[in-house]
Amino acid sequence: MIEPRSEAIRQLRRSLVRIDAADGTIGSGFWIGPDLVLTCAHVAPRGQVEVVWQGNRLPGEVSEAAPAKAGHPDEPWPYPDLALITVPQATVHDCVWLSDQSIPIATPLFLLGHSSIYSADLKSHSANGSYAGPHGDDDELWRFTGDEIAPGMSGGPVLDLDRGAVCAVIKTSREVDSERGGLLVPLRGLRRLTEVNQAGLWRAHDRHHARGSWIGVRRGLATTRTNTLDAGEEAELLELMTHLESTPDLLSLYSDAVAPSTALPPEPINNPRQLCYQLADLLARPGQPHPLLRLVHRLTESERNPVQASLREWAVRVAGRRGEYEDLERWRRDLAGTRPREIERPSIIVQIKPTALDRHRFLLTVWVQEHGNRGMKVYCDDGQGRDLTGTRTLVAQLLRPLLKRLQGFAGVEFVVPEALFDEDFENLLVGRFSRLGRTNPVAIRDLERLSDDETWHSWHERWRRLHDGAGSAEWITCDDRSTSDEFDAGLRLRPEIALLGLAQQPRQFTEDALGVALYAGVPAAVWSRDTCPEHRSGEAADECSGDRFRQSVSRFLAISRLDELPDVIQQMRNAAAAGKEPSGANVVLLWDDPERRPEPDAPLIELA
Ligand SMILES: [Zn+2]
Repeated sequence: MIEPRSEAIRQLRRSLVRIDAADGTIGSGFWIGPDLVLTCAHVAPRGQVEVVWQGNRLPGEVSEAAPAKAGHPDEPWPYPDLALITVPQATVHDCVWLSDQSIPIATPLFLLGHSSIYSADLKSHSANGSYAGPHGDDDELWRFTGDEIAPGMSGGPVLDLDRGAVCAVIKTSREVDSERGGLLVPLRGLRRLTEVNQAGLWRAHDRHHARGSWIGVRRGLATTRTNTLDAGEEAELLELMTHLESTPDLLSLYSDAVAPSTALPPEPINNPRQLCYQLADLLARPGQPHPLLRLVHRLTESERNPVQASLREWAVRVAGRRGEYEDLERWRRDLAGTRPREIERPSIIVQIKPTALDRHRFLLTVWVQEHGNRGMKVYCDDGQGRDLTGTRTLVAQLLRPLLKRLQGFAGVEFVVPEALFDEDFENLLVGRFSRLGRTNPVAIRDLERLSDDETWHSWHERWRRLHDGAGSAEWITCDDRSTSDEFDAGLRLRPEIALLGLAQQPRQFTEDALGVALYAGVPAAVWSRDTCPEHRSGEAADECSGDRFRQSVSRFLAISRLDELPDVIQQMRNAAAAGKEPSGANVVLLWDDPERRPEPDAPLIELA
């Protein structure tokens, strides 16, 4: 068997062409669809060119090219520097698989083009290296680091060796006297072409690849990753999308697919293809079919046969393969009926309070609150208290029978002083194999705020918005420099802020953002108990651990409502424990319902 990366490179080589422009410029290009070549605009700016492919010289015409900067012919060609060439007399040829999605830093890349460096003839020439991040502040150009890029390679394809997709076009080697590598135009730049040409090229591409040899290549490369779709399912879906008869309302399809979340898509959606990719990035909610399956089901309602039958067949097959067939069926049945009534979740409230004399010894009180009743106090310490280790052991002992009695449905809230905010209560062992935070939603609450009425009004107000779906999240990134005063004033201007996100441990920040937010009545907060190693060592990269944590939380939240956060975090802890979401390993949730207050005067109930 051929190694999957070598196979991908072999496929790539079959689509490489040379461009001989009328003015003598020579560059590279590649087939992206039948009779269609992509290259750089600075290689083929306009008019007629000659496309040389496997010894044949074919006449081509530039159908669209990004224009040069007017009056500045010597400056680098402006973004996107891409050109499309139609080659009407082409014989049957291969085409590459394209992706206009972003890729992670350090993705291994293989660059292919023509070069005249080592011989008088133009020979194909390649470069190996990796993606080094965006060039400048926007994502318009990518940096390549690795082998030298030879003259003549401009316009050639850039293969992502992890995903088996051409993700960019070679633009230029760097200025002389700088390190090796060069600049690439990501295929996202295609979005700057006219809509007609974009639609035309993707239609040609997606129809060509429905049963192409790239599916096998991409399957071979995908074995180490978990993708929403298999390479074949993805190609089939994209091909089906090119046959839609109705003109879909993309935004309403998006919100139906992610309902009941009301979040807007992370970036604008201009066509069904982009819609598919944005949904493919999301995770399925537990017990629900994946958003993509929901989208395809909705499309079957507006389409006619045979597209309708093909879409339905695709959805059933993919749901079966993903183990979501029953979820899909149940969801389809429920669509007709009413939404299930929400049952109020019972709660176990565990209060851990330092003793008056020694802040390292704690008094424990436990209440159970069910069906909107007053809390029942089921355990209460008095006297000297005990140290933290002793307290944790006792909590685990007390929780086991309570959780059993509440049939695994209860949320568990730890009311603790700030000093214990980073204590990992979610790791208490409550079953033979299970940690508390994976079996039940676990959150902490602020002991100090519960005994202080000063913040009551804004706390209630923000909590109400959170539940009405009008609340929003505010994030503090690692390098946030705002002072406590600025942050406090900003929060008071925006009463809709109901969730504070911190990219790393609260105490890593010079200002006490968490303290400010709690005092301003923000009812919920989420942070990582980790420090951000990149920022600690001062070697902050383009994307640090803190950023990844934020993205991870946002991805989970995109498919949920803000008021489902305790469930979302439970899901994230499970994903982390399963090795699928490393950033979620040390997530902390503060979730403070102002209505739900432990009742200090409740009598102690002895449990049988
Ligand atoms: Zn950081």
